[in-house]
This record gives sequence, C-alpha cells and structure tokens, in this order.
Amino acid sequence: MAKLSVRSLSVKGQRVLLRVDFNVPTEEKDGRTRITDDTRIRESLPTLKHLIAEGARVVIMAHFGRPKGAVNLKYTLRPVAEHLSTLIGKTVLFSSEVIGEVPRGLIAEMQDGDVLLLENVRFHAEEEANEAGFAAALASLGDVFVNDAFGAAHRAHASTAGIAAHVGKAAMGLLMEKELQYLQGELSEPARPFVVILGGSKVSDKIGVIKALMEKANTFLIGGAMAYTFFKAQGIPTGNSRVEADKLDLAREILALAESKGVRFLLPVDNLETQEISATAQPRATGVHGGAKGVSEGWEAVDIGPETVALYRTEIASAKTVLWNGPLGIFELPPFAAGTRSVAEAVAASGAVTIIGGGDSVTAVKQFGLADRMSFCSTGGGASLELIEGKVLPGVAALSEV
Ligand code: ADP
Ligand code: MG
Repeated sequence: MAKLSVRSLSVKGQRVLLRVDFNVPTEEKDGRTRITDDTRIRESLPTLKHLIAEGARVVIMAHFGRPKGAVNLKYTLRPVAEHLSTLIGKTVLFSSEVIGEVPRGLIAEMQDGDVLLLENVRFHAEEEANEAGFAAALASLGDVFVNDAFGAAHRAHASTAGIAAHVGKAAMGLLMEKELQYLQGELSEPARPFVVILGGSKVSDKIGVIKALMEKANTFLIGGAMAYTFFKAQGIPTGNSRVEADKLDLAREILALAESKGVRFLLPVDNLETQEISATAQPRATGVHGGAKGVSEGWEAVDIGPETVALYRTEIASAKTVLWNGPLGIFELPPFAAGTRSVAEAVAASGAVTIIGGGDSVTAVKQFGLADRMSFCSTGGGASLELIEGKVLPGVAALSEV
C-alpha cells in the first residue's frame, strides 16, 4: 500500500503542519550560535519550496538537541529560523511557544506562502511521550500534516506519529518519499547482482540488517572493525584490532547462514595495521591470508588492505545494485582513509543503483566529494537501518494510505 504524497495534496490556503529534521550541529562563537553543517535544513527545502509555491501557509515543527522535555534556550530553534530565512530568501516567522495562544495568534495573521517555525517541540515532555493531548494541540494549529523528518521517523513521538490521528490527511514530504523509494522500493526487488558493503564499528549494531539482507543480497563485502570479529570467530589472528568478544557465536551463525543460502560473504584478505592511532601514523599492509596470517601481534587493523580494495572494486564494478553502510576503516584519520575512499570511488563509478545509508558512511562519501555521484545518500542513521531491517517506522506507518 502506498502512502499519500505531498505532491497529491491541494494545499492552497491550507495551514500545513510540516515536520522536518532540523537537528543540525552547531557551535557557540562570540555568544552566538552558529550552524556548522546545514545539510539537514537544505534537505527539507524541496518540500518547503513546493508548499510555498502552492500557496500553503507552512507551520514547521522540529526538534533540536536534547532539552529533555523542559524549556532550555540553549536549544532554541530561533537561530535556525534566521538561517532558514536566508536560505529561502523570505522571512520565516518564529513562534517562541510550541502550542497555545502565541502560535495561534501568529498563524491567524499568515498569508498564503508564508512560513512559520515553532519553537523546539522537545521543550514539552509530552512530545517524546507521544501524549495524545499534546499531539491534538499541535494538530489544532493546522489543517493537514506533512512529514519530511525521515531521520526521526523511527520514533513514535507526538509531532512525528501521534499528530496524524488528529488531522484529516497525513502525507509524506518529498525527502521522506525519496528515502522510501530507495530504501524500500529499490531494495525490495533489487537489480542483480546486488552487492552489500558493510563496515563500521560493530557487528552487533548491524545484525538485523545483515539478517534481513541475507534474504536479498548476492554478495556481502565486509570491512571496518566488524571484520575482525569475523576473523576472530574463524581463528584468524586479530592482534589489537577491535573485536566484539561476546559476538563470536553470532559471527559464526552469520557465516553459516550465508553458506546455507549461497550468499557470498567476503572478508578482507589483507588489512592496514598500525601501532599508533594518529593522523601521522604510517600503517603497513598485512600479508594476504589464505588461512595464513592475519593481523600482527601488538598491531591494530584500521583499514582494509590494497589486495582487498582491488577485490572489492572488481565486485562493485559488475554490480547492478549497491547498498553501503559503514566505513571500511577509521576514515576520519587520513592515513586510514584509503580503503573507504577507493571503494567509494568504485561505487560512484559503477553503473549500479547506489544507495548509501548510515551517518558516518554518508559523512565519508561527502568528505570525498562523491555524494552527488551516488544514486542516493540517506539522511537517516537509525531510521535507515530500521527500514532496511524491514521494521515498520512509526512516522511512516502513521501517514495516510492512498
Ligand atoms: P555508520 O554511521 O555509517 O552506520 P558506524 O557508526 O557503524 O557507521 O561506524 C563508523 C565508525 O567505525 C567510524 O567512526 C570509523 O572510524 C569506525 N571504524 C571503521 N573501521 C574501523 C576499524 N578498523 N577499527 C576501529 N574503528 C573503525
Ligand atoms: Mg555511526
């Protein structure tokens, strides 16, 4: 069943309650809050511009930081309203109260195409508790609800889920629609070969994803710290590499599952190892282990090695669908970024549908300047993983069916 899209709503003159993800990183400088990365705000612009062009009166709801259900001006959204004004070249009104007479009065004065941002919804404990009265109070400020906050869709909060029950129509915004199109649509019947690249810090974070994708993928390419838990589970030396010692049985279970399903599950054949985690470290490549040597004693594996890079690039070149979650090394430090970079270049150059999910993976791809060359970079960290796992996201479930 498909969800209602904002594109099929007639919103002229309507008060549209738009939930977005404006939870941007900031820093304090000279007594002012500065937004250090406005990507999330920019991601919401297509929906916002669409609503403005259609003559809606847009009332934006967002959360920011963790004020834990109390008013804390450290987490005010006012600077975001100012920044948004410059991005859209139009004054964005700001309501210092989330619900009640203050926003009601401001909204009553709005004209078609006007935009107002409500103060941080998490100033009310009822938001995260998904309290019905609060959801209804939010809903009373508008006529229809549009949810574009994919990054918060795995949370059943008042402004992401509860509110939908109190409005006539609840539609997905353009960003939400794109997220679902790629993470659900494209992955439900992927063009083959379907190659999944998995890395990052822990196997335990990704078990659900691995198991769900085991039903679909042709090949897994494993890297990152999680690779060494699989090494250890097979008796390959791991030196000082990061290993989840309590997940060895799980790793073996996954390897057996891949084998029984005929899914190719590739682990690094060599690695970069170091004795020092720093930006000036000079890691060395381990030998290629065909049952022979893994990571040296006293050394830590921090990236996949050159032989592995070559092997993975070949796999990627013939893929028709690539899903990537989790960096293949400690890419934050230049000496350990080569593997992740080289694989990212191969993904970008492949003719496949290429989907990047996961906060750090998307950061890596952006850092390499390759984001525009991917089919899609998801804006959701936890939400993307849960969707890929096949879980129902409350923020999506609450939307109207068409
Ligand atoms: P994502 O956010 O894309 O889902 P994760 O949060 O699972 O990714 O993992 C990202 C982190 O994994 C990065 O900070 C990276 O430094 C770390 N990492 C990758 N490879 C290794 C490794 N070999 N050893 C230790 N940490 C690693
Ligand atoms: Mg992460």
